[in-house]
Amino acid sequence: MREDFPILATHIGKRPLVYLDNAATTQKPRAVLQAEMDYYEKVNANIHRGAHYLSRLATEQHEQARGTVAAFLHAQSEREVVFTSGCTAGINLAAQVLALSGLVREGDEILVTTDAHHSNIVPWQMLCGRTGAVLRPIPLTPELTFDMAAYEAMLGPRTRIVAAPYISNALGIINPIPEMIAAAKRNRPDCIFLVDGAQSTAHMAVDVQALGCDFYVFSGHKVYAPTGTGALWGREELLEQLPPWLGGGEMIKEVSFDGTTYNDLPFKYEAGTPNIAGNIVLAAALDYVQKIGLNYIDEHEQRLTRNLYDGLTALGGIDILGPREGRGALISVLIPGVHHYDLGTLLDQMGVAVRTGHHCCQPLMQYLGTTGTTRYSFALYNNDDDVAAALSATERALNMLR
Ligand code: PMP
Repeated sequence: MREDFPILATHIGKRPLVYLDNAATTQKPRAVLQAEMDYYEKVNANIHRGAHYLSRLATEQHEQARGTVAAFLHAQSEREVVFTSGCTAGINLAAQVLALSGLVREGDEILVTTDAHHSNIVPWQMLCGRTGAVLRPIPLTPELTFDMAAYEAMLGPRTRIVAAPYISNALGIINPIPEMIAAAKRNRPDCIFLVDGAQSTAHMAVDVQALGCDFYVFSGHKVYAPTGTGALWGREELLEQLPPWLGGGEMIKEVSFDGTTYNDLPFKYEAGTPNIAGNIVLAAALDYVQKIGLNYIDEHEQRLTRNLYDGLTALGGIDILGPREGRGALISVLIPGVHHYDLGTLLDQMGVAVRTGHHCCQPLMQYLGTTGTTRYSFALYNNDDDVAAALSATERALNMLR
């Protein structure tokens, strides 16, 4: 599989690249690079309404790509899949249309997890600013896992929206999303539940129908696809009920100076020329993932993650955030007396790419009483050598820093 990813042949000075920043973005396989090239060499045209051959071809491939995304998420219908530029755009779209809908009222509560990414906090704060709703963080347990009991106690008649990452990008823990959704719907069947799939989509199979959520968002660039791609899945009934947000071409049926009628789903939410190439290539990336198989990917990454966890534990003096079990393919650490940025810089000099800082989770960092962590994150192409390299580089860096 490593052969599929040309960039993995990079050397940092004389050292081979050990790429462990996959939670930020993944590298792209040849199948994806080739699909992008093929699109521009053989297909490129604007989609929908074109009378000519290339426009028909581009439209066909674009709508096939939507079908691939729908199947990947086990959506009931392609009408539920709105192409976006990624998670941030998807969550903002959901929050904006909910703000416009009148479904969220003063005093309503929006619950988010303490480990939520800024893109799953700020759009809800903006919604609160416009509607008078109140944003409430759901606490973590002392072990840094989701506090189910506290969450259940917070659910009540005012709970209107719950938004949570399936896997935390800063802690690596897997939130109990199916149980969280079930509890929210038991409390209030019309509670709207958004799942942020940024960190789960490349690592575990998802079935939005089985989950019973209302929205699911993911970013293509974290699933081996180009940047600026992704999708928002929304339950059809809800999307039908919600108003459009961005106005323009494509999202309309009829426009006159007396008024406008809007297009059917999903086009109602896709104003303007979409990222045609990106959306088609996103489907190529999802095909690549499916060819390898999410079960295999998950097992492989879980093994690497556990080995790294055990190796870091054995080094001693490292505070690994969250438990060993029930985590995705990433590990975040705090090292007393060592600044995360210093560690990241030394690791980089040894060819090991990790991410340091607040990971766009400043409220979580405030809760942890730190400015940032050092995060190692895996993708399907990482291997035992990467784990060994990360451990020996960390050991050497800590010897220098302590
Ligand atoms: N949510 C989570 C959990 C993330 O990890 C990220 C990206 N780090 C995002 C949302 C935002 O994704 P994007 O920047 O691709 O929109």
